Amino acid sequence: MKVLVINAGSSSLKYQLIDMDSMEVMAKGLCERIGIEGSKLTHKNTAKKSETVFEKPMKNHSDAISMVVDALVSPECGVISDMSEIGAVGHRVVHGSEIFADSCIINDDVKKALELCSPLAPLHNPANIIGIEACEKIMPDVPQVAVFDTAFHQTMPKKAYMYALPYELYEKHKIRKFGFHGTSHRFVSQEAAKLLNKPIEDLKIITCHLGNGSSVSAVDHGKCIDTSMGFTPLDGVIMGTRTGSMDPAVVTYIMDKENMTAKEVDLLMNKKSGVYGVSGVSSDFRDLTKASKEGNERAALALDMFTYSVKKLIGAYAAAMGGVDAVVFTAGVGENDAAARKSIVEGLEFMGIKIDDEANNQRGKAIDISSADSTVKTLVIPTNEELMIAMDTKRLINNEI
Ligand code: AMP
Repeated sequence: MKVLVINAGSSSLKYQLIDMDSMEVMAKGLCERIGIEGSKLTHKNTAKKSETVFEKPMKNHSDAISMVVDALVSPECGVISDMSEIGAVGHRVVHGSEIFADSCIINDDVKKALELCSPLAPLHNPANIIGIEACEKIMPDVPQVAVFDTAFHQTMPKKAYMYALPYELYEKHKIRKFGFHGTSHRFVSQEAAKLLNKPIEDLKIITCHLGNGSSVSAVDHGKCIDTSMGFTPLDGVIMGTRTGSMDPAVVTYIMDKENMTAKEVDLLMNKKSGVYGVSGVSSDFRDLTKASKEGNERAALALDMFTYSVKKLIGAYAAAMGGVDAVVFTAGVGENDAAARKSIVEGLEFMGIKIDDEANNQRGKAIDISSADSTVKTLVIPTNEELMIAMDTKRLINNEI
Protein backbone atom coordinates (compact mmCIF):
# COMPACT_ATOMS: atom_id res chain seq x y z
CA MET A 1 0.00 0.00 0.00
CA LYS A 2 1.12 3.57 -0.73
CA VAL A 3 0.12 6.19 1.83
CA LEU A 4 0.07 9.93 1.22
CA VAL A 5 0.94 11.81 4.42
CA ILE A 6 -0.34 15.39 4.62
CA ASN A 7 0.62 18.11 7.09
CA ALA A 8 -1.53 21.12 6.23
CA GLY A 9 -0.84 24.58 7.61
CA SER A 10 -2.85 27.74 7.02
CA SER A 11 -0.90 28.73 3.89
CA SER A 12 1.38 25.72 3.40
CA LEU A 13 1.06 21.98 2.91
CA LYS A 14 3.79 19.37 3.33
CA TYR A 15 3.42 15.88 1.90
CA GLN A 16 5.21 12.55 1.59
CA LEU A 17 4.19 9.52 -0.43
CA ILE A 18 5.39 6.42 1.44
CA ASP A 19 5.51 2.88 0.07
CA MET A 20 4.47 0.79 3.08
CA ASP A 21 6.00 -2.41 1.68
CA SER A 22 9.51 -0.97 1.65
CA MET A 23 8.80 1.84 4.20
CA GLU A 24 10.57 4.14 1.71
CA VAL A 25 9.61 7.73 0.93
CA MET A 26 8.89 7.77 -2.84
CA ALA A 27 8.31 11.51 -3.09
CA LYS A 28 7.89 14.49 -0.84
CA GLY A 29 7.32 18.17 -1.15
CA LEU A 30 5.93 21.46 0.03
CA CYS A 31 3.22 23.81 -1.24
CA GLU A 32 3.88 27.36 -0.10
CA ARG A 33 1.89 30.60 -0.15
CA ILE A 34 -1.48 28.90 -0.66
CA GLY A 35 -4.08 31.64 -1.20
CA ILE A 36 -1.31 34.25 -1.44
CA GLU A 37 0.37 35.67 -4.54
CA GLY A 38 3.50 33.75 -5.55
CA SER A 39 2.36 30.21 -4.63
CA LYS A 40 4.72 27.38 -5.52
CA LEU A 41 5.10 23.64 -5.16
CA THR A 42 8.53 22.10 -4.61
CA HIS A 43 8.40 18.37 -5.41
CA LYS A 44 11.18 15.86 -4.80
CA ASN A 45 11.38 12.45 -6.47
CA THR A 46 13.48 10.29 -4.13
CA ALA A 47 14.56 7.61 -6.63
CA LYS A 48 15.62 10.14 -9.26
CA LYS A 49 17.04 12.48 -6.59
CA SER A 50 15.36 15.27 -8.56
CA GLU A 51 13.63 18.44 -7.43
CA THR A 52 10.98 20.19 -9.53
CA VAL A 53 9.43 23.56 -8.74
CA PHE A 54 5.95 24.41 -10.06
CA GLU A 55 5.04 28.09 -9.85
CA LYS A 56 1.30 28.34 -10.36
CA PRO A 57 -1.44 30.14 -8.42
CA MET A 58 -3.07 28.02 -5.66
CA LYS A 59 -6.27 29.76 -4.60
CA ASN A 60 -6.91 27.27 -1.84
CA HIS A 61 -5.88 23.90 -0.41
CA SER A 62 -7.91 22.00 -3.05
CA ASP A 63 -5.75 23.61 -5.74
CA ALA A 64 -2.67 22.60 -3.74
CA ILE A 65 -3.77 18.95 -3.41
CA SER A 66 -4.61 18.88 -7.14
CA MET A 67 -1.10 20.07 -7.93
CA VAL A 68 0.43 17.51 -5.55
CA VAL A 69 -1.49 14.68 -7.25
CA ASP A 70 -0.49 16.00 -10.71
CA ALA A 71 3.17 16.05 -9.61
CA LEU A 72 2.90 12.50 -8.19
CA VAL A 73 1.54 11.12 -11.49
CA SER A 74 3.58 13.33 -13.83
CA PRO A 75 5.60 11.35 -16.42
CA GLU A 76 8.60 13.66 -15.80
CA CYS A 77 8.88 13.91 -12.04
CA GLY A 78 6.13 11.59 -10.76
CA VAL A 79 6.43 8.29 -8.89
CA ILE A 80 3.08 6.60 -9.64
CA SER A 81 1.20 6.13 -12.89
CA ASP A 82 -2.28 6.80 -11.55
CA MET A 83 -3.96 8.41 -8.53
CA SER A 84 -5.65 5.06 -7.76
CA GLU A 85 -2.27 3.81 -6.51
CA ILE A 86 -2.71 6.01 -3.42
CA GLY A 87 -4.30 3.58 -0.95
CA ALA A 88 -4.99 6.06 1.83
CA VAL A 89 -4.18 9.53 3.14
CA GLY A 90 -2.86 10.14 6.66
CA HIS A 91 -3.29 13.64 8.07
CA ARG A 92 -1.33 15.20 10.88
CA VAL A 93 -3.82 16.91 13.20
CA VAL A 94 -2.37 18.95 16.05
CA HIS A 95 -5.10 18.75 18.69
CA GLY A 96 -7.45 15.89 19.51
CA SER A 97 -8.51 17.25 22.93
CA GLU A 98 -9.86 14.53 25.24
CA ILE A 99 -11.88 13.08 22.37
CA PHE A 100 -9.08 11.30 20.49
CA ALA A 101 -6.75 8.92 22.33
CA ASP A 102 -5.73 7.18 19.10
CA SER A 103 -5.65 7.88 15.39
CA CYS A 104 -8.92 7.29 13.56
CA ILE A 105 -10.50 6.89 10.14
CA ILE A 106 -12.17 10.15 9.17
CA ASN A 107 -15.94 10.21 8.72
CA ASP A 108 -18.62 12.89 9.26
CA ASP A 109 -18.75 12.31 13.04
CA VAL A 110 -14.97 12.61 13.29
CA LYS A 111 -15.06 15.84 11.30
CA LYS A 112 -17.67 17.28 13.69
CA ALA A 113 -15.47 16.27 16.64
CA LEU A 114 -12.42 17.87 14.99
CA GLU A 115 -14.32 21.16 14.87
CA LEU A 116 -14.90 20.86 18.63
CA CYS A 117 -11.11 20.59 19.15
CA SER A 118 -10.32 23.72 17.11
CA PRO A 119 -10.61 26.30 19.95
CA LEU A 120 -7.72 24.48 21.69
CA ALA A 121 -5.39 24.92 18.67
CA PRO A 122 -6.85 27.85 16.72
CA LEU A 123 -3.73 28.35 14.60
CA HIS A 124 -3.40 24.71 13.56
CA ASN A 125 -6.57 22.61 13.67
CA PRO A 126 -8.66 24.70 11.25
CA ALA A 127 -5.84 24.36 8.66
CA ASN A 128 -5.65 20.60 9.29
CA ILE A 129 -9.43 20.35 8.67
CA ILE A 130 -9.12 22.37 5.44
CA GLY A 131 -6.42 19.90 4.31
CA ILE A 132 -8.72 16.95 5.03
CA GLU A 133 -11.61 18.54 3.12
CA ALA A 134 -9.36 19.34 0.16
CA CYS A 135 -8.24 15.69 -0.05
CA GLU A 136 -11.85 14.50 0.19
CA LYS A 137 -12.72 16.76 -2.73
CA ILE A 138 -9.82 15.73 -4.96
CA MET A 139 -9.68 12.02 -3.89
CA PRO A 140 -13.28 11.19 -2.87
CA ASP A 141 -12.76 7.42 -2.90
CA VAL A 142 -9.53 7.32 -0.91
CA PRO A 143 -9.89 6.66 2.85
CA GLN A 144 -8.47 9.32 5.17
CA VAL A 145 -7.01 8.95 8.64
CA ALA A 146 -6.33 11.60 11.31
CA VAL A 147 -3.23 11.22 13.51
CA PHE A 148 -3.06 13.58 16.48
CA ASP A 149 -0.05 15.21 18.19
CA THR A 150 -1.89 14.97 21.51
CA ALA A 151 -3.31 11.42 21.34
CA PHE A 152 -0.31 9.54 22.77
CA HIS A 153 -0.48 11.64 25.94
CA GLN A 154 -4.13 10.80 26.66
CA THR A 155 -2.98 7.90 28.87
CA MET A 156 -1.63 10.36 31.47
CA PRO A 157 -3.31 9.92 34.85
CA LYS A 158 -5.45 12.76 36.11
CA LYS A 159 -2.90 13.69 38.80
CA ALA A 160 -0.39 14.38 36.00
CA TYR A 161 -2.61 16.35 33.65
CA MET A 162 -4.65 18.50 36.02
CA TYR A 163 -3.57 22.03 36.96
CA ALA A 164 -4.25 23.22 40.50
CA LEU A 165 -6.73 25.84 39.32
CA PRO A 166 -10.40 25.96 40.37
CA TYR A 167 -11.84 22.68 39.05
CA GLU A 168 -14.63 24.49 37.13
CA LEU A 169 -12.04 25.87 34.71
CA TYR A 170 -11.20 22.33 33.67
CA GLU A 171 -14.88 21.50 33.31
CA LYS A 172 -15.79 24.70 31.46
CA HIS A 173 -12.77 25.22 29.21
CA LYS A 174 -10.79 21.93 29.30
CA ILE A 175 -7.84 23.74 30.89
CA ARG A 176 -5.43 20.87 31.57
CA LYS A 177 -2.14 19.47 30.31
CA PHE A 178 -2.48 17.88 26.86
CA GLY A 179 1.11 17.57 25.67
CA PHE A 180 2.34 17.66 22.07
CA HIS A 181 4.91 15.91 19.81
CA GLY A 182 3.02 12.70 20.73
CA THR A 183 3.60 11.06 17.34
CA SER A 184 7.35 11.54 17.75
CA HIS A 185 7.44 10.33 21.38
CA ARG A 186 5.44 7.25 20.37
CA PHE A 187 7.64 6.51 17.35
CA VAL A 188 10.98 6.82 19.17
CA SER A 189 9.81 4.89 22.24
CA GLN A 190 8.74 2.02 19.95
CA GLU A 191 12.03 2.20 18.03
CA ALA A 192 13.95 2.23 21.34
CA ALA A 193 12.27 -1.03 22.38
CA LYS A 194 13.24 -2.54 19.00
CA LEU A 195 16.87 -1.36 19.38
CA LEU A 196 17.01 -2.83 22.90
CA ASN A 197 15.34 -5.99 21.65
CA LYS A 198 12.81 -5.93 24.49
CA PRO A 199 9.02 -5.61 24.52
CA ILE A 200 8.02 -1.99 25.14
CA GLU A 201 5.66 -3.34 27.85
CA ASP A 202 8.79 -4.22 29.91
CA LEU A 203 10.46 -0.81 29.67
CA LYS A 204 10.49 2.56 31.41
CA ILE A 205 11.63 5.09 28.81
CA ILE A 206 12.23 8.84 28.95
CA THR A 207 11.98 10.35 25.47
CA CYS A 208 13.60 13.76 24.87
CA HIS A 209 12.31 15.41 21.68
CA LEU A 210 14.72 18.36 21.45
CA GLY A 211 14.35 20.60 18.42
CA ASN A 212 13.23 24.14 17.92
CA GLY A 213 10.26 23.08 20.03
CA SER A 214 11.18 20.61 22.76
CA SER A 215 9.38 18.23 25.08
CA VAL A 216 10.24 15.30 27.34
CA SER A 217 7.91 12.37 28.05
CA ALA A 218 7.79 9.53 30.55
CA VAL A 219 6.75 6.35 28.70
CA ASP A 220 5.98 3.66 31.25
CA HIS A 221 5.46 0.18 29.75
CA GLY A 222 4.54 1.76 26.39
CA LYS A 223 2.10 4.32 27.81
CA CYS A 224 2.79 8.01 28.33
CA ILE A 225 2.31 8.88 32.00
CA ASP A 226 3.64 12.44 31.90
CA THR A 227 4.97 14.98 29.42
CA SER A 228 6.48 18.42 29.70
CA MET A 229 4.38 20.48 27.28
CA GLY A 230 1.06 21.53 28.71
CA PHE A 231 -2.22 23.13 27.72
CA THR A 232 -0.14 24.67 24.93
CA PRO A 233 3.39 23.89 23.66
CA LEU A 234 4.81 26.74 25.81
CA ASP A 235 5.40 24.68 28.95
CA GLY A 236 8.33 22.51 30.02
CA VAL A 237 11.80 22.67 28.48
CA ILE A 238 13.32 26.02 27.47
CA MET A 239 13.00 26.12 23.67
CA GLY A 240 14.25 28.01 20.62
CA THR A 241 11.97 30.99 21.20
CA ARG A 242 9.59 29.74 23.94
CA THR A 243 10.10 30.30 27.66
CA GLY A 244 9.32 26.78 28.88
CA SER A 245 8.11 26.57 32.49
CA MET A 246 8.26 29.67 34.65
CA ASP A 247 6.29 31.28 37.46
CA PRO A 248 2.95 32.26 35.84
CA ALA A 249 2.84 35.40 38.02
CA VAL A 250 5.58 36.80 35.76
CA VAL A 251 2.92 37.26 33.06
CA THR A 252 0.79 39.79 34.94
CA TYR A 253 3.92 41.48 36.31
CA ILE A 254 5.28 42.04 32.77
CA MET A 255 1.87 43.29 31.59
CA ASP A 256 1.90 45.81 34.40
CA LYS A 257 5.54 46.93 34.19
CA GLU A 258 5.87 46.96 30.39
CA ASN A 259 2.31 48.12 29.74
CA MET A 260 1.66 45.14 27.50
CA THR A 261 -1.56 43.42 26.50
CA ALA A 262 -2.21 39.70 27.04
CA LYS A 263 -1.66 39.10 23.30
CA GLU A 264 1.67 40.94 23.38
CA VAL A 265 2.95 38.91 26.35
CA ASP A 266 1.77 35.73 24.63
CA LEU A 267 3.85 36.68 21.58
CA LEU A 268 6.82 37.58 23.81
CA MET A 269 6.72 34.19 25.55
CA ASN A 270 6.27 32.17 22.34
CA LYS A 271 8.39 34.01 19.78
CA LYS A 272 10.93 36.21 21.57
CA SER A 273 12.00 34.15 24.56
CA GLY A 274 13.77 30.81 25.06
CA VAL A 275 17.44 30.46 24.10
CA TYR A 276 16.90 33.26 21.58
CA GLY A 277 15.61 35.69 24.19
CA VAL A 278 18.30 34.85 26.75
CA SER A 279 21.24 34.89 24.30
CA GLY A 280 20.07 37.70 22.03
CA VAL A 281 21.96 35.73 19.37
CA SER A 282 19.74 33.10 17.74
CA SER A 283 17.23 30.33 18.34
CA ASP A 284 19.45 27.94 16.38
CA PHE A 285 21.65 25.74 18.55
CA ARG A 286 24.45 25.74 15.97
CA ASP A 287 24.69 29.55 16.17
CA LEU A 288 24.56 29.41 19.98
CA THR A 289 27.32 26.82 20.19
CA LYS A 290 29.51 28.92 17.89
CA ALA A 291 28.82 32.12 19.85
CA SER A 292 29.44 30.36 23.14
CA LYS A 293 32.80 29.01 21.89
CA GLU A 294 33.70 32.57 20.87
CA GLY A 295 33.12 33.70 24.44
CA ASN A 296 29.54 35.00 24.30
CA GLU A 297 28.42 34.54 27.91
CA ARG A 298 24.71 34.91 27.26
CA ALA A 299 24.85 32.23 24.54
CA ALA A 300 26.65 29.95 27.00
CA LEU A 301 24.04 30.76 29.66
CA ALA A 302 21.17 29.97 27.27
CA LEU A 303 22.70 26.58 26.45
CA ASP A 304 23.25 25.87 30.16
CA MET A 305 19.65 26.79 30.97
CA PHE A 306 18.40 24.54 28.17
CA THR A 307 20.40 21.46 29.17
CA TYR A 308 19.63 22.02 32.87
CA SER A 309 15.89 22.16 32.14
CA VAL A 310 16.07 18.81 30.29
CA LYS A 311 18.27 17.21 33.00
CA LYS A 312 15.74 18.13 35.71
CA LEU A 313 12.90 16.55 33.73
CA ILE A 314 14.86 13.31 33.32
CA GLY A 315 15.22 13.17 37.11
CA ALA A 316 11.55 14.03 37.62
CA TYR A 317 10.30 11.39 35.19
CA ALA A 318 12.57 8.69 36.61
CA ALA A 319 10.95 9.51 39.96
CA ALA A 320 7.46 9.45 38.40
CA MET A 321 8.08 5.96 36.93
CA GLY A 322 10.07 4.60 39.88
CA GLY A 323 13.12 4.09 37.66
CA VAL A 324 14.24 4.31 34.08
CA ASP A 325 15.64 1.76 31.60
CA ALA A 326 16.39 4.06 28.69
CA VAL A 327 16.75 7.75 27.87
CA VAL A 328 16.13 8.57 24.21
CA PHE A 329 17.29 11.70 22.37
CA THR A 330 15.58 12.76 19.14
CA ALA A 331 14.78 15.73 16.81
CA GLY A 332 17.17 18.40 15.47
CA VAL A 333 19.13 19.05 18.67
CA GLY A 334 18.63 15.63 20.25
CA GLU A 335 19.87 13.81 17.14
CA ASN A 336 22.73 16.12 16.17
CA ASP A 337 24.09 18.02 19.15
CA ALA A 338 26.54 15.72 20.96
CA ALA A 339 27.64 18.50 23.33
CA ALA A 340 24.05 19.17 24.44
CA ARG A 341 23.47 15.44 25.06
CA LYS A 342 26.68 15.20 27.07
CA SER A 343 25.81 18.22 29.16
CA ILE A 344 22.25 16.92 29.80
CA VAL A 345 23.38 13.54 31.16
CA GLU A 346 26.42 14.89 33.04
CA GLY A 347 25.81 14.39 36.77
CA LEU A 348 23.19 11.67 36.23
CA GLU A 349 25.74 8.90 36.85
CA PHE A 350 24.12 8.40 40.27
CA MET A 351 21.02 7.19 38.37
CA GLY A 352 23.10 4.76 36.30
CA ILE A 353 23.17 7.02 33.23
CA LYS A 354 26.63 7.11 31.64
CA ILE A 355 27.49 7.73 28.01
CA ASP A 356 30.43 6.75 25.84
CA ASP A 357 32.03 9.89 24.36
CA GLU A 358 33.07 8.19 21.13
CA ALA A 359 29.61 6.70 20.50
CA ASN A 360 28.05 10.04 21.42
CA ASN A 361 29.94 11.72 18.59
CA GLN A 362 28.35 9.57 15.87
CA ARG A 363 25.38 10.87 13.90
CA GLY A 364 22.55 10.08 11.56
CA LYS A 365 21.42 6.64 12.73
CA ALA A 366 19.72 4.95 15.67
CA ILE A 367 22.52 4.20 18.12
CA ASP A 368 23.15 3.17 21.71
CA ILE A 369 25.55 5.75 23.17
CA SER A 370 25.71 4.35 26.72
CA SER A 371 29.03 3.30 28.18
CA ALA A 372 29.58 -0.40 28.88
CA ASP A 373 29.10 0.05 32.66
CA SER A 374 25.92 2.15 32.37
CA THR A 375 22.86 0.48 33.89
CA VAL A 376 20.53 2.80 31.97
CA LYS A 377 20.69 2.83 28.17
CA THR A 378 21.05 6.20 26.45
CA LEU A 379 19.92 6.08 22.82
CA VAL A 380 19.86 8.48 19.89
CA ILE A 381 16.95 7.68 17.57
CA PRO A 382 16.05 9.78 14.51
CA THR A 383 12.36 10.62 14.71
CA ASN A 384 10.04 10.03 11.76
CA GLU A 385 6.58 11.43 12.40
CA GLU A 386 5.53 10.98 8.76
CA LEU A 387 6.33 7.26 8.86
CA MET A 388 4.41 6.91 12.14
CA ILE A 389 1.40 8.65 10.53
CA ALA A 390 1.66 6.33 7.50
CA MET A 391 1.96 3.25 9.75
CA ASP A 392 -1.14 4.27 11.73
CA THR A 393 -3.01 4.94 8.49
CA LYS A 394 -2.18 1.48 7.13
CA ARG A 395 -3.03 -0.15 10.49
CA LEU A 396 -6.48 1.44 10.62
CA ILE A 397 -7.32 0.92 6.94
CA ASN A 398 -6.31 -2.74 7.17
CA ASN A 399 -8.18 -3.08 10.46
CA GLU A 400 -5.03 -4.24 12.25
CA ILE A 401 -4.69 -3.92 16.04
P1 AMP B 1 13.76 20.52 14.62
O1 AMP B 1 12.77 21.49 15.22
O2 AMP B 1 13.64 19.14 15.14
O3 AMP B 1 13.80 20.60 13.12
O4 AMP B 1 15.20 21.02 15.11
C1 AMP B 1 15.71 22.25 14.67
C2 AMP B 1 16.88 22.64 15.51
O5 AMP B 1 17.87 21.59 15.51
C3 AMP B 1 17.59 23.85 14.97
O6 AMP B 1 17.10 24.99 15.59
C4 AMP B 1 19.02 23.61 15.33
O7 AMP B 1 19.28 24.40 16.46
C5 AMP B 1 19.13 22.18 15.72
N1 AMP B 1 20.17 21.48 14.95
C6 AMP B 1 20.06 20.95 13.71
N2 AMP B 1 21.24 20.41 13.33
C7 AMP B 1 22.11 20.61 14.34
C8 AMP B 1 23.49 20.30 14.56
N3 AMP B 1 24.20 19.67 13.64
N4 AMP B 1 24.03 20.67 15.73
C9 AMP B 1 23.32 21.32 16.66
N5 AMP B 1 22.02 21.64 16.51
C10 AMP B 1 21.42 21.31 15.38
